[in-house]
Amino acid sequence: MLSLDTPIQFVKGIGPGIAKTVAEKNVLCVEDLLYHLPFRYEDRLHPTPVEALKAGEMASVIGEVRGTVLLRTRSIPIFEMTIGQNLSTLKAMWFHGAFLKDRFKPGQMVALYGKVEPSRSSRSFKMIQPQFEILPDDHDDEQSRLLEVGRITPVYESLGGSRFASRWIRRTIYDLLEDLRGNVSETLPAALLARLQLPSREEALRQVHFPQAGTPMTHLQAWSTPAHRRLIFEELFYLELGLELKRKKFKERAGITFETNERVRLALRQVLPFHPTPAQKRALGEIVGDMRRLGPMRRLLQGDVGSGKTIVALQAMLVAIENGYQAALMAPTEILATQHYLSIRKLLERAAIPEGNLPYHVSLLTGSLEEDRKRAVRGKIFRGETDLVIGTHALIEEKVEFAKLGLVVVDEQHRFGVLQRFRLMKKPTDAEPDVLVMTATPIPRTLALSLYGDLDLSVLDELPPGRTPILTRQTTDERAPEVWDFVRKQVAKGHQAYVVYPVIEGAKDDQPELDFPEDGPKGDEAKSKPAAKPAKKTVKAQSLFGEKPAPKLKPRSAPDLKSAVEMYELLSNSSLAGLRLGLLHGRLSADEKEVTMRRFQRGEIDVLVATTVIEVGVDVPNATVMVIEHAERFGLAQLHQLRGRVGRGAAKSYCILMTGSTRSGAKVSAQGEERLAAMVRTQNGFELAELDLQQRGPGEFFGTRQAGLPDFRVANLLRDRALLELAKEEASQFVRCADNEATPEEKSRVWARLKEAWQRRYGLVEAG
Ligand code: ADP
Ligand code: MG
Repeated sequence: MLSLDTPIQFVKGIGPGIAKTVAEKNVLCVEDLLYHLPFRYEDRLHPTPVEALKAGEMASVIGEVRGTVLLRTRSIPIFEMTIGQNLSTLKAMWFHGAFLKDRFKPGQMVALYGKVEPSRSSRSFKMIQPQFEILPDDHDDEQSRLLEVGRITPVYESLGGSRFASRWIRRTIYDLLEDLRGNVSETLPAALLARLQLPSREEALRQVHFPQAGTPMTHLQAWSTPAHRRLIFEELFYLELGLELKRKKFKERAGITFETNERVRLALRQVLPFHPTPAQKRALGEIVGDMRRLGPMRRLLQGDVGSGKTIVALQAMLVAIENGYQAALMAPTEILATQHYLSIRKLLERAAIPEGNLPYHVSLLTGSLEEDRKRAVRGKIFRGETDLVIGTHALIEEKVEFAKLGLVVVDEQHRFGVLQRFRLMKKPTDAEPDVLVMTATPIPRTLALSLYGDLDLSVLDELPPGRTPILTRQTTDERAPEVWDFVRKQVAKGHQAYVVYPVIEGAKDDQPELDFPEDGPKGDEAKSKPAAKPAKKTVKAQSLFGEKPAPKLKPRSAPDLKSAVEMYELLSNSSLAGLRLGLLHGRLSADEKEVTMRRFQRGEIDVLVATTVIEVGVDVPNATVMVIEHAERFGLAQLHQLRGRVGRGAAKSYCILMTGSTRSGAKVSAQGEERLAAMVRTQNGFELAELDLQQRGPGEFFGTRQAGLPDFRVANLLRDRALLELAKEEASQFVRCADNEATPEEKSRVWARLKEAWQRRYGLVEAG
């Protein structure tokens, strides 16, 4: 008897061979195949007449093959096909299409899907490289006709070459659904489905694969039919249910009850260098509220670049320290850790210590410190001689043992990935320390709560007073002299500047410049091609064969990738000669970094030439210019963070995005242009994050892919936010048992399914 967990190889018509092929697409059992949903639909009941096509639109067209020809042009073979509907015709062409030569025969019916392009002859159209499907002819059996034409037809991503494409999938799924009729187990309580007006699981699966005639095409394409919503909801409901349970279980563990008496409050006031914004006050209130409770705190503090998260964290850490505990602050880069160390020590030293209190002991622990210094710091932490440890992930990795750890703050969490966060939280201590995670990534609230479903959320939704908007401009190398001139003028006014490059040194080492290279330059832009060297040998060989001496090869105009080290030299000796330049990148030793940071903070360096090591957190309010070269190579989140290094004081600040020379022929990709245009247009981190999320997709954006969280089967966090919120509400209600909607039997089925689902899909999180 077939069921949803039947391994795919036991399905009629599928043996071990095919099973092996589709296993590569993660289709292992019947259920997997049924959840391989169509990525689009074609209305083959009402196909578009050729006369109704409009240039520029995507369309699906059905017609009869009238003729084909393989054109051997000088460069590439082009396969051209004419299809006809009565008197109208449409041309389709495929470049490198020789392989199609024997696929089509005149008289065959075919379905094409592609972009409609105007053709040279005025009133006709063509499609270039359309997707195609050969439709069954009259001799074929009843069933294929039922599935392929005269209905809304599902189109699938292939499960392995053209053999396991749409037609095969349609037929297999159709047969499966017939065999399973009445036997698809339900995973959600009936009353819940009725209340949300969602169909049963079986009905939903049937409808997403073979929609009823009359189902609006727009709803189908947007995955918003009740059937789609049901399957998406189901997936999100189980995600949320798991998170809800984790959160509940966690809250029941014993944490620390911190006190906030007058002495603690006085200590907090002592270190504050300015009046906190109302948002900072509110966030601190929420954090301290958690800290006073017995249950351990797990809170996310979200605030755009420059919103002032550090001081809130410092106050929370002081609460812990004044209660006799140690606090740890973890930063994603050594530079940021070092800066936190320098500025926090300054604040704490300056504060007059309230009577009866001891001075604070602050230590820095980063990976590149020398071994014996690390050992010394670890010893101090272990013996409780350090109140506040500031460090990088070395804190997790170097087996640091705390005497009495009370609070962990993780700064700029988007770089850590989910996994590292969980590992940190697992540190064995007697009482569970409180954890505060900070991020500048403006994750929409629902997403934040769902992805970090075990965290509470505080938001800094305003900037400290007196900030002026940053003026952002995009330009090319041709105007570099003006740019450097502008930098000189700003320095003459007493300000400082950053100049940022994508790599440390030369094209040969295209090292991602982050301690956590999670969202470095992406895709086609990630690799710098080494500048083409004149190929001497080839030149000689050519002339040896008596040909005309080859012209001396000019260094190719391929974009030379400028690097921080080289440009530091070049600028020091040319455009910025006479100014005090500094160089900062990830390969310097901890000491060198610290010295340079300190000098830049003190204003002893005018222009800091750097890589993205300064991307997060660096805070020098006197810096007013951010020049980013090869700006098209950076991701949006990075650009936004980099720009956030200026505009932190009262003076007007500027961000200049440079994209190489127009003459070099270096082309910026369409996505790159979109990113730069967005940067020029807005400073709103939320808006930029939306675009970033769209460009990179949720997996990359949240770093869940790197962290091992699998992608969803049907849900899409960007598209399905509303359903996510609904799923969260329903899941938390289900856990609280607020109402008795589900029968005991349904409940136990839900728990069983959850266990199975989390094991299978989120196993890693559970283990973490
Ligand atoms: P981020 O949220 O990006 O980590 P920081 O904590 O580094 O921001 O703060 C940015 C800058 O704003 C720092 O120079 C900090 O001293 C300053 N700042 C923070 N809060 C206030 C405030 N309430 N009033 C004035 N300046 C503030
Ligand atoms: Mg910060």
